[in-house]
Amino acid sequence: MGKITGFLEIDRQDRKYAPAADRVRNYNEFVIPLGDEGTKSQAARCMNCGIPYCHNGCPVNNQIPDWNDLVYNDLWEEASRNLHSTNNFPEFTGRVCPAPCEASCTLNIEDVPVTIKTIECAIVDKAWENGWLKPIVSAEKTGKKVAVVGSGPSGLAAAQQLARAGHSVHVFEKNAKAGGLLRYGIPDFKMEKNLIDRRVEQMEAEGVTFHYGAHIGVTQDAKQLTDSFDAVLICAGSEKSRDLPVPGRDLDGIHFAMDFLPQQNRRVGKEAPLDNKPILANGKHVVVIGGGDTGSDCIGTSIRQGAVSVTQIEIMPKPPEKENKALTWPNWPMKLRTSSSHQEGAERDFSVLTTGFRGEDGKVKALQCARAGADMKPVPGSEFELKADLVLLAMGFVHPVHEGMLKSLGVKLDGRGNVEANVRDYKTSSDKIFAAGDARRGQSLVVWAIREGRQAARAVDEFLMGSTTLPR
Ligand SMILES: Cc1cc2nc3c(=O)[nH]c(=O)nc-3n(C[C@H](O)[C@H](O)[C@H](O)COP(=O)(O)OP(=O)(O)OC[C@H]3O[C@@H](n4cnc5c(N)ncnc54)[C@H](O)[C@@H]3O)c2cc1C
Ligand code: SF4
Repeated sequence: MGKITGFLEIDRQDRKYAPAADRVRNYNEFVIPLGDEGTKSQAARCMNCGIPYCHNGCPVNNQIPDWNDLVYNDLWEEASRNLHSTNNFPEFTGRVCPAPCEASCTLNIEDVPVTIKTIECAIVDKAWENGWLKPIVSAEKTGKKVAVVGSGPSGLAAAQQLARAGHSVHVFEKNAKAGGLLRYGIPDFKMEKNLIDRRVEQMEAEGVTFHYGAHIGVTQDAKQLTDSFDAVLICAGSEKSRDLPVPGRDLDGIHFAMDFLPQQNRRVGKEAPLDNKPILANGKHVVVIGGGDTGSDCIGTSIRQGAVSVTQIEIMPKPPEKENKALTWPNWPMKLRTSSSHQEGAERDFSVLTTGFRGEDGKVKALQCARAGADMKPVPGSEFELKADLVLLAMGFVHPVHEGMLKSLGVKLDGRGNVEANVRDYKTSSDKIFAAGDARRGQSLVVWAIREGRQAARAVDEFLMGSTTLPR
């Protein structure tokens, strides 16, 4: 524990954002780092609790008090080594993780948790700046070949762990670049994509081979993978968007969030557009249906594109602004969360049901809404209309795409339509096929995907070699 009285003397300070009026002019990241001294003094606030609840709050079980102490003592390189022993990609989580660790920090009982995510991000950014993150090339090769389908955070974490264990790892990705939702879902203003490119270079130097434009089960036979590889790990994400089958759904101007967001990310990345029609918010009244991360990202992107107005509606009632700590701590509380995108100028409304869309000349003009009662049915007499020229459906994802790869491999699905596999051996119902990340657990978080990728890599290593030294 760096400074025994740190938590008594030093107030919580977190990274600030560039002003909204400036940041909406471009797609760059806008979070302003605390700097070395600011980060060190925040690390000094960690109380090194006898039971560090943050360890369990963090899905990859980062050893948070240990690296807080190292940062406070200016031992940044050692802090980076420690951090990387549990998390392959802290620069991703240090930017986009909702930080359940901070919800479970003991100081959060008083609403002033240690700024864990900020310290994590500072450690890894400094490690890259100083050239401390070199490729770790395995000294001995096992002669075993593993195919990983999908290059989102679960596929990348698994591939890195497996390559470091000495296996020959091939990642098959249907898109033109690696990253999954990190690249094509999460906007650049939350996480710039050069961070992924840098990791891909590191992994290539460690021996991972990436095959892009390889859509398994569509452009490339899925069975061929099981024939040519000793193990196949499915990390294909949960890509089937939840739809809203109400009258008027087929009007022009109503799109899934994941038809809209990837287009903008491709524009920023100077990637050729796919041959679909551009969906743009400029000059439009935009309504985003769905209150999660995807909805927030649609807001920030629409505002940057020049929308006239952006309204976000959510079917659930407005959650409380503040949680009851006695009931919730150290767990993740249900409460109102306001993202940086909300602060950029969106209206929010809760308990709103969309009963239909009204259009003119085939184009959407308004949402027909009603207040949702406690039974989630429309409250009689509460009907109203919301003006809309562009509607973005951000109501989550139901399960992975079944057609193509999953059907052809014949893996069993669970009751929710995800690939069935447990979190001990990550094995599917088919011989030598494993599954991890959103494809197995359903839509989730980057940090959970990294955890599952790491754990699945261990399971695959054990399956191939009979034993493993990879961490769980
Ligand atoms: C818009 C949006 C914003 C989000 N924001 C956040 C956030 O701020 N913080 C957070 O923690 N989480 C966020 N999430 C959730 C997070 O991105 C996911 O939980 C995480 O990326 C899942 O990782 P994954 O590796 O399991 O799958 P994915 O990231 O979905 O990657 C799956 C990969 O598999 C590829 N693939 C699929 N099928 C095939 C096939 N047949 N052949 C070859 N390749 C295939 C896909 O192209 C993709 O690259 C967000 C999600 C969305 C949609
Ligand atoms: S990965 Fe997320 S939960 Fe874990 S320490 Fe970082 S911010 Fe916290």
